[in-house]
Amino acid sequence: MQRTLSILKPDATSRNIIGKVNDHIENAGLKIIAQKMIRLTPENAGEFYAEHKGKPFFPNIVEKMTAGPVVVQVLEAPDAIAAYRKIMGATNPAVADEGTIRKTFALSIDQNTVHGSDSPESAKREINFFFNEIEIVG
Ligand code: GDP
Repeated sequence: MQRTLSILKPDATSRNIIGKVNDHIENAGLKIIAQKMIRLTPENAGEFYAEHKGKPFFPNIVEKMTAGPVVVQVLEAPDAIAAYRKIMGATNPAVADEGTIRKTFALSIDQNTVHGSDSPESAKREINFFFNEIEIVG
């Protein structure tokens, strides 16, 4: 079994589509083994997206990620990282495949509804960023 870190971004929580996004996740066979709603500070968001520090869109990511609450989740499946990236769709929803979460729900590249870890190393770092072992039921 593999785990990945998922975030339902403020554009999702503000539009009341948490359940709809979770339907996509569960219908794809990904099991939600931890989930909580939190509000990120600019410092939290900047640390989480540290790899993008210095890029022109970095201030915008921080602004969008702190515009409202987020739902952070741990998802589990045999190939959770790739399986979730597949149903998320491309970063830019304009070019995301039909039926993906981003094609269905995203408003723009910076309000693209979901985050998912992109490697086993980042999944480990990102899960530890948000969750204690006691919070994960898997
Ligand atoms: P992801 O793994 O598909 O979420 O993409 P990245 O890790 O590369 O980027 C993190 C987030 O930053 C993305 O989900 C977008 O919301 C945002 N982002 C990435 N590239 C751009 C860009 O070129 N312009 C803007 N405005 N936002 C971007």
